[in-house]
Amino acid sequence: MSIQAIKGVKDILPADMPAWQHLEKIAREIFENYGFSEIRVPVFEYTELFARSIGASTDIVEKEMYTFDDRDGRKLTLRPEGTAGVVRALIEHKLYADNQLVKLYYMGPMFRHERPQKGRYRQFHQVGVESLGGTHPHVDIEILVMLHRLFARLGITGLTLQVNSLGDAACRDGYRDVLKRYLKAKLPDLCADCQRRYETNPLRVLDCKVDAEKFADSPVMLDHLCGDCKDHFAVVETGLKTLGIPFVVNPRLVRGLDYYTRTTFELVMEHAGAQNTVAAGGRYDGLVKEIGGPAIPGIGFALGVERAVSLLNTELLKPRRPQLYIAALGNAAVGLMLPVVHALRNEGIGVETDYTGASLKSQMKKADKYEAAYTLIVGEQEMVSRTAVLRNMATKEQIAVSLDRVVEEVRSRVKT
Ligand code: ATP
Ligand code: MG
Repeated sequence: MSIQAIKGVKDILPADMPAWQHLEKIAREIFENYGFSEIRVPVFEYTELFARSIGASTDIVEKEMYTFDDRDGRKLTLRPEGTAGVVRALIEHKLYADNQLVKLYYMGPMFRHERPQKGRYRQFHQVGVESLGGTHPHVDIEILVMLHRLFARLGITGLTLQVNSLGDAACRDGYRDVLKRYLKAKLPDLCADCQRRYETNPLRVLDCKVDAEKFADSPVMLDHLCGDCKDHFAVVETGLKTLGIPFVVNPRLVRGLDYYTRTTFELVMEHAGAQNTVAAGGRYDGLVKEIGGPAIPGIGFALGVERAVSLLNTELLKPRRPQLYIAALGNAAVGLMLPVVHALRNEGIGVETDYTGASLKSQMKKADKYEAAYTLIVGEQEMVSRTAVLRNMATKEQIAVSLDRVVEEVRSRVKT
């Protein structure tokens, strides 16, 4: 049997690319408009980077990482998310040195050993942003507005922005105790994961994909925020309202990574089962210090490209079409057209041709299939008369162009 791609790992085929490239193009435009610059970090890192940043008792670190021994015995991991690597690069290159907000974006593949299903793959792609160095709640607002604008520009509707605050070191421990007291009575009815997380990471219990609805009456972090966190969240809420960004507060929103503090959010599809989150993020004020850098606060988000692309209206995205198809009939015409094909491409005109020299009928079919705007026809007769026929495929209008000046003549008519 022939070798196939790894389970849960997908090819992104040429037919998919218009949607992917459109999403990437709009994302770049918007991010750069907000002052973000692209960064490309490696797809693999030392395992301890992810273990330390994402948190040992999270789904990702417990069971989803692709980890292997390098030949020198050190453990390496294919990145399961983008923030850890970006923060590692920030520290390593002292990108923070000039004491300004450092605003970065990235795009690329991520790797998690999950059960493959629609919207959940083992290699998937994220587009993400990180804003480092600012604690002001307007920094959070900037990130949330940018996320909102991105999906609005992509024409993707039916999403809800859910926002919550996870507090900080000053107030989260107190809440954790309250939550543990609440969960204790329910413990016998909860899944094995929840029972374990109750000990290691009780907030994560609220994020359980099996038991979540059992916690509708749980105490929530929002009722236990310290004064600073409460003020911070209030400014974020007010700012979003001022700017007309629709959102709902979901007081039971927690995230699958440990490094989040304060503002946390997800962009959720209204009806899509368990794979319903398109983008997610939050503030991570302790992370840079946690992995060995200075105390620099940060906030960011990542969107799942496969999920976002599945929501795009691809009818509006036309694949690239050649401006010109050259139908060279017979081998002599094929030879004569060689410099013409390349000279026109050199002028920036998209030219398609095949090198078969096949009949006019079959080549016109091909020109139609390519949806070329023009076709240049050169056969024996045209070689004798030293004129080719240039056909406008939409209007069916045909004109004769001199073969001695064919590049200039075609360029002036075809160039848009
Ligand atoms: P989920 O709750 O769906 O498992 P998550 O909380 O693990 O998501 P994040 O780590 O926040 O996801 O990643 C951000 C986004 O990346 C998600 O909202 C989703 O769109 C996408 N994503 C995460 N895991 C996968 C995957 N295995 N396959 C495809 N997309 C994914
Ligand atoms: Mg997950």
